[in-house]
Amino acid sequence: MSERSKVQAVLQGRCPQCREGKLFKHGAYNLAKFTKINQECTSCGVKFEREPRFFDGAMYISYALSVGLFLVSAFIIYMFFHPVSENVYMLAIISEVILLYPIMFRTSRIIYLYAFGGLKFGGNKK
Ligand SMILES: [Zn+2]
Repeated sequence: MSERSKVQAVLQGRCPQCREGKLFKHGAYNLAKFTKINQECTSCGVKFEREPRFFDGAMYISYALSVGLFLVSAFIIYMFFHPVSENVYMLAIISEVILLYPIMFRTSRIIYLYAFGGLKFGGNKK
């Protein structure tokens, strides 16, 4: 059983049940393969895709994360660089979306699995 806290486990993309096994097979910036999720936990064997198309719901988390990112970026630009043209806001947001896409994609799936996967730390569901 892992000593990781829940927050550490989420940030490191670990299994909700044992906090050991990794959700994703490859690194976030392995651009050909960053979306590949392990079928089951390599440590405790729990199935990550709880039902068919389970991770489709993660798009709502992704949307919320993106809106949060946009608001924070707009606030920072406004506070430190005001006045600037609207194009600066657009350029900043578009670059963030592109550069952070793998991280947003993965984080939203991890959060979704933790929130709606029905898995408890220390449990033994398969
Ligand atoms: Zn596990």
